[in-house]
Amino acid sequence: MQIASKITEVSNELAPYRARLVAVSKTHPAEAIQEAYDCGQRIFGENKVQELTDKAEALPKDIQWHMIGHLQRNKVKFIAPFVSLIHSVDSLRLLEEINKQGEKFQRKIPCLLQIHIAKEESKFGFDRKELLDALPFIHKMNWIQIKGLMGMATFTEDHAQVRSEFQELRSIFNELKKDHCSGNIAMEELSMGMSGDYKIALEEGSTLIRIGTTIFGNRNYNNPQ
Ligand SMILES: *Cc1c(COP(=O)(O)O)cnc(C)c1O
Repeated sequence: MQIASKITEVSNELAPYRARLVAVSKTHPAEAIQEAYDCGQRIFGENKVQELTDKAEALPKDIQWHMIGHLQRNKVKFIAPFVSLIHSVDSLRLLEEINKQGEKFQRKIPCLLQIHIAKEESKFGFDRKELLDALPFIHKMNWIQIKGLMGMATFTEDHAQVRSEFQELRSIFNELKKDHCSGNIAMEELSMGMSGDYKIALEEGSTLIRIGTTIFGNRNYNNPQ
C-alpha cells in the first residue's frame, strides 16, 4: 500500500513534464516489485547483473528492465538477450562488448551514454570531449542503438550546483541532438534525477528519472538478498 501510494504520488509529479519513472528496485525483494507492478509500474532499474537476471526470471515478462549501475564487460552477455535499456554505458570498450553480444543475440541493444558531470572523482562516464571523439566509432556499431544520455549529479545539498550540473548535461544533449544524430545515434532520452534531486532534474529537462528510496524506502545492504 505504501509503495502503491508513493508510485502514484511520484507519477503525478512527473506527468506535467512527460517524463517517465524508472523505479529503482535494487536490494528490494520481488514482492516489493510486484506491488509496484500491480499498480501499473512497468519500468524497473537494477544495478547488479545477477540481481537483475534473477528478478527478471521470477517476475512478469512484460516488465522493462533497465540496467543503471556500472556494468562489467564480462557480464554483458547475461542481460543482452532482454534488457530494455542500459543507462550506464561509460566506455568504448564496453560499447564494443555490447555490440558483440547484440550481434550474437541478433538484437539491437538500446543504450544511454553516461556522462561524467559530478565534481566527484568516483563517478563513471565520458566527458564531453571523450564523447565527441567516440561518436565516429559508435556510428559503426550496428548492434548498438544510442537513445540518449545519462548522468548523476554530485551528492550535495547545494541545489545550485546540482542544477548547473544537470544544465551541463542538457547542453551536451542538445549539442548532440542538433549536430550528431543519424543512423544508430538518437537523442530522445535524458536520464537524470534520483530521490534527492529529481525535482530539479525535471525542471532541467529530464525524460527518465530513476527513483529508489522515495518509493521503496531505505536500502538495507546487509540483507543477504
Ligand atoms: C540507486 C540508484 C538510483 C536511485 O537512488 P535513490 O536515491 O534511492 O532514488 C538512481 N540512479 C542510480 C544510477 C542508482 O545507482
